[in-house]
Amino acid sequence: MRELIDRLAREHTLTGREFAALIAGRDKDLDAYLFQRAVEVRQEIFGNRVYLRGLIEFTNYCKNDCYYCGIRRSNREAQRYRLTEEEILSCCREGYDLGFRTFVLQGGEDPYFTTERVCALVRAIKAQAPDCAVTLSIGERPGEDYQAMFDAGADRYLLRHETANDGHYRTLHPPSMSPENRKRCLRDLKNIGYQVGCGMMVGSPGQTPAHLAEDMLFIRALEPQMVGIGPFIPQHSTPFADRQAGALELTLFLLGLLRLMLPKALLPATTALGTIHPRGRELGILAGANVCMSNLSPTAVRAKYALYDNKICTGDESAQCRGCLEARLASIGYEAVVDRGDHPDFT
Ligand code: SAM
Repeated sequence: MRELIDRLAREHTLTGREFAALIAGRDKDLDAYLFQRAVEVRQEIFGNRVYLRGLIEFTNYCKNDCYYCGIRRSNREAQRYRLTEEEILSCCREGYDLGFRTFVLQGGEDPYFTTERVCALVRAIKAQAPDCAVTLSIGERPGEDYQAMFDAGADRYLLRHETANDGHYRTLHPPSMSPENRKRCLRDLKNIGYQVGCGMMVGSPGQTPAHLAEDMLFIRALEPQMVGIGPFIPQHSTPFADRQAGALELTLFLLGLLRLMLPKALLPATTALGTIHPRGRELGILAGANVCMSNLSPTAVRAKYALYDNKICTGDESAQCRGCLEARLASIGYEAVVDRGDHPDFT
């Protein structure tokens, strides 16, 4: 197995069978070997710098009905909220004063936020903070809408593919959603020139090592600048309420593989990782990740963006979140940096 890891580090790819064998056969020794290689690669490119992003969860209205997600349309228990443009700009100003130079605007697929409104918002953020990068994560749209938002100044776009296997995709989503459209969106975003992020939930219901191997090959072919992966975590009022959460060890292992496959990628140690283990984000960094998200949303709405149960950081003020992350990173010898932190090919 170590030879496969060495070859991945050298050639940046493996066959599907080899990825599946690694994923199915991992153990503690192999984890340690992989993480050491992944950290070496990451250190060479990024040193001990970890990029902090300011995250604004600006709406939890969603027209989609993904079976795993707590803000799905059919969840009548979800307390819906939508920030005004002025509230979003105020979160950005607060973030700017805390030093953040990347704002990630994430939300459900909320029809209120038409492409015109999103473009106006991006222009307003860029007008008040021209030195900042804006990342959008607002789901599937037609290619021309992505183009308009890019023209308005958006720099990056996060759209997890969720799973590269079409059959598996259909077990996680209602028939109104299609894997073809999700993949079409990612191709459009790349062609337009965004720094693009895809990714999957680890341990989502029905997922096998072969599915994860397909994810690796899909990511290899797409060559995104960012890959967001985190464990699936059940949410009590969704159809997957009783399913098992994804495992910490497997998520860390995949982060390590991703670092070797795409050495220059921006890889977040996600909030979901921090939710399933008290030191999950630190362990993510020690497995090869190099990005953390700090929440800038108003505290009054934080708990309402409840994609899954027991989400961390729902009570802290923005400054506390930043301080907490900085201290966590310092505790493992890493430096939190808040500059734009573009992908090395985009600087
Ligand atoms: N609507 C946008 C989209 O579809 O990309 C962004 C918001 S969506 C809630 C962000 C991500 O949350 C999804 O891509 C999914 O991977 C993740 N997510 C949703 N429910 C989750 C759960 N129960 N456990 C872990 N991650 C979850």
